[in-house]
Amino acid sequence: MSRFLTKTCPRLILAGCLPAPAARSARTYASTASPISQFDWEDPLLSKNLLTGEEVAISETAERYCQEQMLPRVLRAYRDEHYDPKILQEMGELGLLGATIKGYGCAGVSSVAGGLITRAVERVDSGYRSGMSVQSSLVMGGIDDFGSAELKERYLPEMAKGTLLGAFGLTEPNHGSDPGSMETTARPHPTKNGYYLLSGSKTWITNSPIADVLLVWAKLQETGKIRGFVVDKRDAPAGTLETPAIKNKNGLRASITGMIHLADCPVPKENMFPHVEGLRGPFTCLNSARYGIAFGTMGALEDCITRARTYALERKQFKGNPIAKYQLVQKKLADAVTDAAYGVLAAIQVGRLKDEGRATPEMISMIKRQNCDRALYNARVLQEIFGGNAVSDEYGIGRHVANLFVTQTYEGQSDIHSLILGRAITGLQAFV
Ligand SMILES: Cc1cc2nc3c(=O)[nH]c(=O)nc-3n(C[C@H](O)[C@H](O)[C@H](O)COP(=O)(O)OP(=O)(O)OC[C@H]3O[C@@H](n4cnc5c(N)ncnc54)[C@H](O)[C@@H]3O)c2cc1C
Repeated sequence: MSRFLTKTCPRLILAGCLPAPAARSARTYASTASPISQFDWEDPLLSKNLLTGEEVAISETAERYCQEQMLPRVLRAYRDEHYDPKILQEMGELGLLGATIKGYGCAGVSSVAGGLITRAVERVDSGYRSGMSVQSSLVMGGIDDFGSAELKERYLPEMAKGTLLGAFGLTEPNHGSDPGSMETTARPHPTKNGYYLLSGSKTWITNSPIADVLLVWAKLQETGKIRGFVVDKRDAPAGTLETPAIKNKNGLRASITGMIHLADCPVPKENMFPHVEGLRGPFTCLNSARYGIAFGTMGALEDCITRARTYALERKQFKGNPIAKYQLVQKKLADAVTDAAYGVLAAIQVGRLKDEGRATPEMISMIKRQNCDRALYNARVLQEIFGGNAVSDEYGIGRHVANLFVTQTYEGQSDIHSLILGRAITGLQAFV
């Protein structure tokens, strides 16, 4: 488990770990393997050779924190369905939050480095990665992309430290895959100049019960167009905003999920994103988060592989043979290792294109769909290797399987991403 955890700088933003932005543009590659390479089942296609030295260092820092600090807590957190907000603060101290954002106390690393962080976190648990992705990609990313200078200054530095927590409210009880039909509205305050009143309900919102800042998408009554509002919980008058938790989930139990109920909640005009309207706003935020999910789920799958391989080598059945000796077991491992290796390579390639401004939303749909589907499929198959023990949460595999169902469902269910790809391939819209 601790294979990544070598001694590197303790904090991402320490000098020496992250060079100045100008220096980063000249890519220096990590040390290459010897001419005759040994097959490495943990990195079969030598994806590490595609990383810069800086990315390797960031990955090692994140992996070390996750394995040493997060992993020991996850079993209890999952059983108790408890999310400790301190985790986001710890991530903030390490510079892991909003890591790809430049300025505002953020590390300003490459998309691939951001993806390596999500992979490290999701190797422990998809719920922990979800809490981080919402904070980093959906809320901080949204404010960075579309917020006014004042909103950025007010929220990003504290959010980077993890002392201010965010949630992203798009999904509604009656509108999930089709957010364009949302019913939440913003209307001008009848008596208070410069304010909107927000009304409506959002559901299945990661972090909402503990968040200080809610990025809520609502239709402006005056235009019927979707706009983004930064709703600061601390400013909401009593009775206008509630964020109850949704309990008894059977996946992502180590994350906290809730609703957002708005009843004429007053929000200052300055808290509306000034220049973006329609679905471009939420979809741009989702694009970055989906990239993180594509990379992150490979971490979960890799953890399933490690656990299944260890179990198969130790468990003996029939004449004292380890079950790893049997062909059917080996095929399961071969399929999973192949899908993980392909998934990581694809994520690195799309990350590079993203930083060059050449990644299309369809590319993100492709890797989000493929990596989530393959992670879920392989995790379910690898679970079989554990026999009856798979049912015990101590083995960790069932937790990943339950979590990976959610990753395949949220931020565009896989079938919806198929339709996005199908539209791009045929030119024909199959949504409606
Ligand atoms: C734990 C968890 C955390 C979440 N966190 C957040 C969050 O932080 N913020 C947020 O805004 N949302 C969040 N979500 C919501 C998530 O994004 C939605 O659940 C997802 O978009 C699917 O919407 P739905 O559940 O309404 O399913 P539906 O849209 O009802 O879809 C149900 C099924 O129908 C299929 N379907 C729908 N339309 C079509 C069509 N035209 N053609 C073919 N098939 C179709 C879908 O693919 C799916 O299989 C979260 C969800 C969960 C479970």
